[in-house]
Amino acid sequence: MILPGATLGLLGGGQLGRMFTVAARTLGYRVTVLDPDPLSPAAEFATGHLNTAYTHPVSLSELAQTCAAVTTEFENAPAEALVTLAEKTLVRPSGNAVAVAQDRSREKAFIASRGLPVGPYADVRDEADFASALERVKLPAILKTARFGYDGKGQATIASRDDLARLFAEWKRAPCVLEERLALDLEISVILARAADARVAVFPVAENRHANGILDLTIAPARIPDALAAEAADLAVRLANCLDYVGVLAVEMFVVGARLLVNEIAPRPHNSGHFTIDACRTSQFEQQVRVLCGLPLGDPTPHSPAVMVNLLGDIWGAGEPRWEAVLRHPGAHLHLYGKREARPARKMGHVTVCEATLERALEVAMAIRRDLGIAP
Ligand code: ADP
Ligand code: MG
Repeated sequence: MILPGATLGLLGGGQLGRMFTVAARTLGYRVTVLDPDPLSPAAEFATGHLNTAYTHPVSLSELAQTCAAVTTEFENAPAEALVTLAEKTLVRPSGNAVAVAQDRSREKAFIASRGLPVGPYADVRDEADFASALERVKLPAILKTARFGYDGKGQATIASRDDLARLFAEWKRAPCVLEERLALDLEISVILARAADARVAVFPVAENRHANGILDLTIAPARIPDALAAEAADLAVRLANCLDYVGVLAVEMFVVGARLLVNEIAPRPHNSGHFTIDACRTSQFEQQVRVLCGLPLGDPTPHSPAVMVNLLGDIWGAGEPRWEAVLRHPGAHLHLYGKREARPARKMGHVTVCEATLERALEVAMAIRRDLGIAP
């Protein structure tokens, strides 16, 4: 067990890292953040900031020497950096699990090979794959780059073989996956923490609404039948077991008719789990600290239903939003990430509304959205 007072290392210093850092510092740990951004949101709360590239050998060796354990807040942390660190210190989740999650093609192959459900897809590595991919996947389809996509970036809908050829060329022949565009009834996510002794704690299943490929709203618990929620939780746990995962894992799923399909996984806390900070006995970030340090897992049980509203840079159009519109609601919790520059589609913060009933939480969340000028 790594006890409070020790220093923890964090690869990546965005908002997820910031909330991890707050949780770790609250528990009495020191935190060193490695992030090339001098204005890293996590570094504001950290005890140390190595302000270099993720692969900088001097920074990696300092992290390895000074940190009792290292974790990551984003899947594009070079998996090699995690592997290098793992030679000298404890790294959770493993570089191998991160490598699976950071490549859509490996991720889908891994999930499918373990008998877990994924939608129809095909790898597209070069022009010779077009014909077989279009046989396997019905049009319209979505072409996604295998790596470095997030918030709907690196993906586009294609309606024809010509679209496929044009986009593949435009994207400089980067490896892609082609996915059937499914008629989604709902999107949900399951976030869990899995400890080194294989114990698992699962947060309530969350229902997610996206706008322009970016998470817009999370409703917890998801408004789905209990049996489907139990099936989703079971799927996520099986996936974590297959990966021999140690850490916090998020599993995004599609609900299509009565079926669940795994969309993608994130080897870290997830935007759709931010509600756990205010609505659960233990947050996803405290859970990340606990797993990293080998402490007992916290209790993921919710205190109340919750609705989380993402705050994107778009609402800064006329200057700082009127936060009074949030703060006057006693059940609303405002979280801002300390980013200096508000750009459209940039995640700047979120609001979590906790109320005795989900209906009431939704009402308050909708009132806040209206007052802040977010589309209903
Ligand atoms: P990322 O979150 O990494 O940008 P996702 O694969 O989760 O990429 O895609 C973002 C969103 O796009 C999803 O949450 C979903 O709303 C939509 N989407 C993605 N893949 C499909 C698909 N195969 N069919 C229908 N909608 C999809
Ligand atoms: Mg996603």
